[in-house]
Amino acid sequence: MTLYCEQTPYSRLAGEFGTPLYVYSQAALTGAFCAYTDAFATLNPLVCYAVKANGNLSILKHFAVLGSGFDIVSGGELARVLAAGGDAGKTIFSGVGKSEAEIEFALNAGVLCFNVESLPELDRIQAVAERIGKTAPVSLRINPDVDAKTHPYISTGLKSNKFGIAYADAPAAYRYAAGLGRLKITGIDCHIGSQLTDLSPLVEACERILLLVDRLAAEGIELEHIDLGGGIGIVYRDENAPDLNAYAQSVARMMAGRRQKLVLEPGRSLVGRAGTLLTRVEFVKQGEEKNFVIVDAAMNDLMRPALYHAYHRIEVVGQKKRQPFVADVVGPICETGDFLGKERELACEAGDLLLVADAGAYCSSMAGNYNTRNRAAEVLVNGSEARLIRRRETWEQQMANETACL
Ligand SMILES: *Cc1c(COP(=O)(O)O)cnc(C)c1O
Repeated sequence: MTLYCEQTPYSRLAGEFGTPLYVYSQAALTGAFCAYTDAFATLNPLVCYAVKANGNLSILKHFAVLGSGFDIVSGGELARVLAAGGDAGKTIFSGVGKSEAEIEFALNAGVLCFNVESLPELDRIQAVAERIGKTAPVSLRINPDVDAKTHPYISTGLKSNKFGIAYADAPAAYRYAAGLGRLKITGIDCHIGSQLTDLSPLVEACERILLLVDRLAAEGIELEHIDLGGGIGIVYRDENAPDLNAYAQSVARMMAGRRQKLVLEPGRSLVGRAGTLLTRVEFVKQGEEKNFVIVDAAMNDLMRPALYHAYHRIEVVGQKKRQPFVADVVGPICETGDFLGKERELACEAGDLLLVADAGAYCSSMAGNYNTRNRAAEVLVNGSEARLIRRRETWEQQMANETACL
C-alpha cells in the first residue's frame, strides 16, 4: 500500500528503471544521519558511516557532504570512499584480516587510524609502515565480552567471537603497540554486534571500555579518541528500536569530563530504513501444501532472509481489488533457501509490483551473481526526482573477466 518514495510513485520507478530495483530516499538518509548528530550534539562525535552496510558511491557522497567519516573493512571500501569524495582523514580501517597491500594503500591515503584486532596485525602494520617510511595511527579493538543478545551471526563482542583483542589482554597489547616505533596509539574501539535492540549491552560495553581507558592513562598511555562502534538496531517487524537519545544521554554521562573525541560507526541505522527493493510478481503458484508468489528478485539480490532468517515487510504496491491469500514469497533461484518472506498474507497476481521494505542496509551490498543473475539497478530519490545511481548489470559485464579456453 506504500505507493510513494518521498513524492515519487514506486510504480513510476519500476516502469522507468525496471525490476528488481533498489530505491533509496535521500531525505531518509539525511534524517538518519542528523538523528545521530542531534542526539550526540553535546559530544560533537565523529560519525563514521560503516560502508559495508551500503557502499553505493552516491550514498557515500551524500554522507560525505553531510560531514560523515567512514568505517571501512577492506581496501575496496577505501577506494569507494575516495572515489565518492570522502575524507581519508575521517576514515577508520576495521577488520580482522587486513592484507599488507591494503595496509599500504590506507597508510598512503592517510586514514585516521587502523582499528587493530590482534598482535600479529600490529606487527604487520609496523612492518609496512617501516618499509614505506610512515607512522601508522592505531586504535585497538577490544572485545568487552558482553552479550549483545542478537543473532549469533551478527554478535561480535563475545569471548568466542573472532573479533577484537581480549579484554584481559588489552593493557599488554597497548604496551606492546607502544613499543613499536612506527605506530602511534590514538584510540580504543569496540563493536559488539549488529541489529541490537537493547541498549544495556551497549552501555555496559562503554563502561568497560572507559575503565580500560583509565587504567591505560594510569600507565601513561593517553588516548585521543574512544570509538563505541555501531550496532544500533532498526525496526523490521515488531522489535524495539533502541532510543538514540537515551543512548546518547548515557554515553554523555559516562564521557563527562573526558577529553577524548567520541567516534561512532553506525551502518544499518543510517541506511536500513531508507531503502526499498521493488520486485515484480512473475507467477502465483499453488503448491501441494503451500502457495508461492514467485517474484523477479531473489536471494542474490537480498540474502538476509536466506542468511539470517531475517524478516522484511513485503507489501503489494497498488490498490487493485484482489483476494488475499497466504504464500511464501520466493525468487527464481534454484535453492530452497531462496525466499524473501515466508507465510505472508498478500493480495496479488502475476504482473503486480511488490515492495520489500527496509532494504537499505546489508541488501544490495551483499548482492551477488548466483545463477548468473545481473545485479539490480539502484535509484536515489529526492522529492519527485529520481536518479539512477547504479545501472543494471549486464551478462557481458558478468563474463568480462572470463575466457572460454580449451
Ligand atoms: C559492521 C560494522 C559496523 C556497523 O554495524 P551496524 O550494525 O550496521 O551499525 C561498525 N563497526 C564495525 C567494525 C563493523 O564491522
